[in-house]
Amino acid sequence: HDVVAALKCVCHLCANHTCETEAEGACWNSVMLIDGREEAVKSCLSPSEMKGQVFCYGSRHVSKRNCCFTDFCNNETLHLHTERSSEGSVWGQLVLAAVILVPSCLLCVAVVLGVCAVHHQRCIHSKARAQDPEELLDDQSLVSPEKGLKELICDMSTSGSGSGLPLLVQRTIARTIVLQESIGKGRFGEVWRGRWRGEDVAVKIFSSRDERSWFREAEIYQTIMLRHENILGFIAADNKDNGSWTQLWLVSEYHEYGSLFDYLNRHTVSVDDMIILALSIASGLAHLHMEIVGTQGKPAIAHRDIKSKNILVKKSGTAVIADLGLAVKHNSTTNTIDIPVNHRVGTKRYMAPEILDDTINMNNFEAFKRADIYALGLVFWELARRCSVRGLFEDFQLPYHDLVPCDPSVEDMRRVVCDQKLRPNIPNQWQSCEALRVMGKIMRECWYANSSARLTALRVKKTVSQVTVIREVKD
Ligand code: ADP
Ligand code: MG
Repeated sequence: HDVVAALKCVCHLCANHTCETEAEGACWNSVMLIDGREEAVKSCLSPSEMKGQVFCYGSRHVSKRNCCFTDFCNNETLHLHTERSSEGSVWGQLVLAAVILVPSCLLCVAVVLGVCAVHHQRCIHSKARAQDPEELLDDQSLVSPEKGLKELICDMSTSGSGSGLPLLVQRTIARTIVLQESIGKGRFGEVWRGRWRGEDVAVKIFSSRDERSWFREAEIYQTIMLRHENILGFIAADNKDNGSWTQLWLVSEYHEYGSLFDYLNRHTVSVDDMIILALSIASGLAHLHMEIVGTQGKPAIAHRDIKSKNILVKKSGTAVIADLGLAVKHNSTTNTIDIPVNHRVGTKRYMAPEILDDTINMNNFEAFKRADIYALGLVFWELARRCSVRGLFEDFQLPYHDLVPCDPSVEDMRRVVCDQKLRPNIPNQWQSCEALRVMGKIMRECWYANSSARLTALRVKKTVSQVTVIREVKD
């Protein structure tokens, strides 16, 4: 085909039922037999998905797929002609199909419209739903058998979409993961270690009650250009319907050392270890906070739940920021935030003073970043205590361990942080080690009651990286 221009196509699951392809893309039309009934999916295909050669061809008797190359050419609805349709009354089947299909389609469209409205350029190429096993087998061909996760993700970043694997590929990966052991529990689901083609992956499983959280976290991870070496590598999102309930999965890279909280509980760190961890956490947060302008840009994002349990330690000794479930994105052209924000989310112990006393100005996006920086200071404090210098270090403690009860209330925290204006103690002996002295200074400058006086993530990153340089020069 000699098609260059972008196309407009019918898209079931998009805002306005329309999507737009990139140049060299196609409109996609398909019908599959799912749980004994036909389900049509129409959407846009990217050039890289076209190259996959899978989407444009039907298979056996379970699906028909079609690609076309003019505006709205996928408008026509395809049908499968299975033997079963000749049995019994056609009328009865039609009524049955209408009774089942109409409400379920309406529901799907309603749910998915919400997401698509936000990033409709990456509209969904599939309805991730319970599927005919034959069809599932068929979809395995989407993921070349010899490829590992690194290659798949690499292919994806060079193919230009930049925000995540195609949804059919995500689903195919998710459905061939074998769960191994439960490794963690947090606010929402349970986190498991799973295996996929001989590699470990982490699977965060949400209950259907927490569908909104699953949706939100998957959406944030698929923000264009979010990928960064210090942000947890997202692999796939999938919702698996087993008839009576829905299991919601988020698949990500697995880090066997677990959270920074777990790591610091078990290990002390050398000065170099500390600096590498601090630098990578600051780099991850600086990337999250940074707005990159342009078509290949990213919005500024605030995390809103920075704490040692939401940072993971990699085998290489660096760290990644995880648990983006509460993050908010800033739209700088309209100066708006992408979701309605309720007042106090996050972990009470790590809440900035302006959140505790409710003086935060939520109309200013900077306010969310500054609250993250306050929490970053607390994480640095937990980290620096475990830094072993000449055999001296402190035990692991959570911030304010000596000032508030175990599961502190907002009121407990407010009394200490706002009224008494207390902050975690910076030990005197930190002054005798250059790196710890700098860490202590950074913490104080992250903890100002006046949030506009706090350091930015970029400044923290630069200051920490200077410690590295100084140490290298000394060596
Ligand atoms: P929640 O939203 O429920 O708090 P998190 O994403 O914070 O879930 O994960 C909960 C815990 O599971 C983490 O504190 C960590 O101990 C563990 N965990 C999460 N993701 C991974 C991963 N990719 N590799 C290893 N451990 C992980
Ligand atoms: Mg968490």
